[in-house]
Amino acid sequence: MKNYVKLNDGHKMPKIALGVWQSHEDTKQAVLDAIKAGYRHIDTAACYHNEEAVGEAIQESGIDRSELFITTKLWNSDIRAGKTREAFEESLKKLQLDYVDLYLIHWPVDGYVEAYKEMIELQKEGKIKSIGVSNFKIHHLQDLLSKVEIIPAVDQMEFNPQMQDEELLTFCKDNKIVMEAWSPLGSGKCLSTPAIQLIADKYHKSTAQVILRWLLQKDIVVLPKSVHKERIIQNYDIFDFELNDEDMCLMNQLNQNLRTGPDPDHFDF
Ligand code: NDP
Repeated sequence: MKNYVKLNDGHKMPKIALGVWQSHEDTKQAVLDAIKAGYRHIDTAACYHNEEAVGEAIQESGIDRSELFITTKLWNSDIRAGKTREAFEESLKKLQLDYVDLYLIHWPVDGYVEAYKEMIELQKEGKIKSIGVSNFKIHHLQDLLSKVEIIPAVDQMEFNPQMQDEELLTFCKDNKIVMEAWSPLGSGKCLSTPAIQLIADKYHKSTAQVILRWLLQKDIVVLPKSVHKERIIQNYDIFDFELNDEDMCLMNQLNQNLRTGPDPDHFDF
């Protein structure tokens, strides 16, 4: 299996990113550990308040910018206020970058179409390589697709063993939109599921590795978060085994439509 996916705009995106939501003061070290372990994709957001730390780690890593894939996201208050460009420039400054690889609308709040159109302008200026969305259900995507000429490269959604939206995954695939799974481990809640432990024992892997591998085999990009070096290394070490069809089916059957985060149709922030 290749370690990257090709987006609908031609750019390549590494299939495993380090997520840094709630990484707090450990962010810089976690990013450095991840880059050392082979990660080339980091997923942050303006509202995680750690873009500076990500930027410092990028500088310190010594890795050529062109080898890294950096995602950040436009926060809801800036979408509502029509401040896409200002918010983007602020993120860029904090990250110490002159472009980001992927910029996402964080949540589908009022004003997302206008924000997306501004992102298209920033893309034309070379400041954003790929543009996408996050927390967009099918009806949000349908609305956006009817109003803009550039299809999002990515939809970043909660997807893990207990929360599987197959209908959305199919819709994304049909429209050449790559799905990224946020909270791929269910924010840690899926790690002690007995059925996953049985599969993990069989492959001599951890439950985290089985979940991440299952997602990759479903063509979903994963963003596991950890601030522990050994877990960061472990979460990247999933290219040397393959779940068979029977185990893929067993994982698919664990769905409970149970979210760890907010429902994109009902949130109050
Ligand atoms: P994850 O599903 O990645 O789970 C993270 C939790 O699992 C942490 O408690 C971590 O602990 C633990 N963990 C990670 N790896 C292992 C391992 N190998 N063994 C045991 N425990 C492990 O949850 P998140 O909710 O953090 O989501 C991941 C990323 O998704 C975020 O960081 C963010 O980038 C993105 N996201 C995007 C959202 C959006 O709206 N677009 C919303 C939510 C998340 P520890 O750190 O202590 O090791």
